[in-house]
Amino acid sequence: MDAVASSLAQLSQALNLIPKEKRGYLHNVLGGAEAVISFKLPLRRDNGKLETVDAFRVQYNRTRGPYKGGLRYHPQVSLAEVTALAFWMTIKNAVADLPLGGGKGGIAIDPKLLSTSELERLTRTFGKYLSPHIGPYWDIPAPDLGTNADTMRWLSEEYHKSARRLKNGYHKSELLATFTGKPLDFGGSRVRTEATGLGGLFVLDTIVRMFKLERGRVDPLRVAVQGFGNVGYHMALLLSENGYLVTAVSDSRGGFFNPAGLNIDRLANLKRGYGSFKNVPNFPATYVSNSQLLELPVDILVPAALENQITADNAKRVQAGVVLEMANGPTSFEGEEILVQQKTLVVPDVLANAGGVCVSYFEWQQNLKGQRWTANRVSERLKGKMVKAAVSVIRTAKKQKTSLRTGAYVMALERIYGAGHQVGS
Ligand code: NAD
Repeated sequence: MDAVASSLAQLSQALNLIPKEKRGYLHNVLGGAEAVISFKLPLRRDNGKLETVDAFRVQYNRTRGPYKGGLRYHPQVSLAEVTALAFWMTIKNAVADLPLGGGKGGIAIDPKLLSTSELERLTRTFGKYLSPHIGPYWDIPAPDLGTNADTMRWLSEEYHKSARRLKNGYHKSELLATFTGKPLDFGGSRVRTEATGLGGLFVLDTIVRMFKLERGRVDPLRVAVQGFGNVGYHMALLLSENGYLVTAVSDSRGGFFNPAGLNIDRLANLKRGYGSFKNVPNFPATYVSNSQLLELPVDILVPAALENQITADNAKRVQAGVVLEMANGPTSFEGEEILVQQKTLVVPDVLANAGGVCVSYFEWQQNLKGQRWTANRVSERLKGKMVKAAVSVIRTAKKQKTSLRTGAYVMALERIYGAGHQVGS
């Protein structure tokens, strides 16, 4: 099952637990995207050659507020993938109780194969093409896989230029609020870079506490993290600083496993120096492939790279008791059915990785109000939001006698229905 089919199957499963009179409305508003925008972006390579690249923005649902979701640069980006991701954003923003809808976008390109000047040219072109479709109260993009604060700065600068041309009447603070995940010196928020990992830590701590995962243990909980980008690196670092034992990490070409634990700072330095874990010589750990990492003897598995990593093919071999989904859609629908049968607790993406969008929301608020919050204030607010969302999801799942994912969906669907009802009455 691909990402779209998985997302719709998850929706159907949750709809079964929603009172009948609400189902038809929810099925209609969430069964497909409100707007789908496809672009063919021209890209002038450094050697003068002109190419075109496919790009998308999917505006899935804005019942609860402006479309909100990241922009992804990856060769696997397709309209189908972006649509599934935009649906998940709609659910995630409702789970975190943010007054936002869901959207997602991206470019089908491998950013590692472009020079910095090519990447900047392509991003600026994307900014020009996107500008008429977005705005501070309409659609607010952010970084995702393969994009970062620099990407947001380039896009935002192009949006500012277009806004002058389009004379859309927005104040400077509103122009700034149209993108989140920006650099700190360009209207970004403190804690945004590590927000997704930090939010994941708050959720995991809540799970450990409420499910009493440390009862009777002397040793720390062992964790394997797949992916060492923005989310994976910060997650691994924060876990190792907060009482967990990180025994494995990986990037796209594999990674290291040491049952005694890994030094994340040291690994980050080595990765910077050698480009990939694969090129690091004489590291005191066993080299593992990405598929091996998923099957290691750990207590907690953290997929933090791509979707569809745990599927019907490998779910049986997952040994972890908890899967904390920091990537979007890392477990396929069939994979999750197997995990549920073997009593593995899956902490769903729509809860676990909502920290990034929470701090994006704080950034948006700061821009609109002309404020700059301290790191402490941002972290405290993030903690409040994440712990509240985690406790509510656990309680809903227990009440409905269902998985945490379906519990989260039921909670989100009720909130979307409530907002839709207000608009429609
Ligand atoms: P990133 O580009 O910073 O890092 C991605 C990492 O995944 C890199 O280490 C890369 O080497 C690794 N990777 C790529 N292909 C892989 C493969 N086949 N197997 C294993 N590892 C592979 O991206 P990111 O921002 O860290 O995003 C990671 C995931 O988290 C994505 O699913 C994204 O949608 C999700 N997410 C990100 C944010 C955010 O704030 N950045 C928020 C919520 C969810």
